[in-house]
Amino acid sequence: MVGGGGAEKSGRGAGPSRTSSGDSTPGTILASLPGNESDWRAAGYCAGSPFPARITPYYASLVKGPYGPDPIALQAVPRSEELDDAGSPDPLGENAHCPVPGLIHVYSDRVLVMPTSACAVHCRHCNRRWRRDVAGPSPWHALLPGWLDYLRARDVAEVLITGGDPLMLPADALGEVLARLRETLPDAVLRIGSRIPVVDPERITPALCATLSKLHPLYLHTQLNCVAECTPESARALTLLADAGIALGNQMVLLKGVNDSADEILRVNRWLVNHRCRPYYLFLTERVRGTRHLWVSVARGLDIASQLQRGASGLLQPHVVVDTPDGGGKVPLTRDRVRLHEKWAIVTDLKGREVVVEG
Ligand code: SF4
Repeated sequence: MVGGGGAEKSGRGAGPSRTSSGDSTPGTILASLPGNESDWRAAGYCAGSPFPARITPYYASLVKGPYGPDPIALQAVPRSEELDDAGSPDPLGENAHCPVPGLIHVYSDRVLVMPTSACAVHCRHCNRRWRRDVAGPSPWHALLPGWLDYLRARDVAEVLITGGDPLMLPADALGEVLARLRETLPDAVLRIGSRIPVVDPERITPALCATLSKLHPLYLHTQLNCVAECTPESARALTLLADAGIALGNQMVLLKGVNDSADEILRVNRWLVNHRCRPYYLFLTERVRGTRHLWVSVARGLDIASQLQRGASGLLQPHVVVDTPDGGGKVPLTRDRVRLHEKWAIVTDLKGREVVVEG
């Protein structure tokens, strides 16, 4: 994280001292949540995961407790099921498409750059866990010249700035990354991918928005997954960004026990639209190793997709997709593209190849 990633923020209801600047030990994260540590462990939350835990005081304050279903805890607190070895460490095969360190190029017209591997919260469903092993601290200034050289020689229409979470960078560092990309590709769309408006909304400040507003046209896609995340704090963050002229979208991930019903998704999407953030994608859970307990089956995903189509205006409807490896594209989750089997499904990707999706 560059320069320490900015000052720590204290969230509402923050109890014991907690930070988002370091990985938590299992005991630390459980002790920071409401309820007894032993009850959390009895409820299946523990700890031994190869993907360390990290949570912000704000996001921890949204956790209710270990005594019933909790969509926030499921997204942020390790569970014993993470030791299950089903799935792939890198289901989209991104690691094989890094021509330059910190840059992924899968589709000819789009490039993804990763100026940091730091995140405020380690989302348990993250499909980029593999990145933690290959990114060192504060790499953006060392990586930037290589990205610019690579991009100058190519016809790229869109650059996605992701990570990690790019809003973990100090505003001036992020501003420099964006300004250099804008200078090199004056006609490209720049799109930030960030969960900060959802997991640490106090980081969205007028000063940050003033920096970003100099770099238009700029898009920011966040990932807000459930009603429990629709808070006044996140509303304020989205409003600041929208008032700064940043086009907002949401890329929701379909997660078992978090948002696997059309009703929950529509409630979230109504809230997002009311805060000028357009529902953009709803991703079928990627089959990331250690996340099997969060997978929604393809059959259930199809049901939800058709219920969304029947139950709402177009403004509330995201593209419901399965992301596929090696440039196969974001495949619409529709019955004509899927063959269901008992324990897996076959999805035909946008290149006509058949991809097996577990579960
Ligand atoms: S913020 Fe994004 S990159 Fe970071 S852990 Fe969450 S899903 Fe993964």
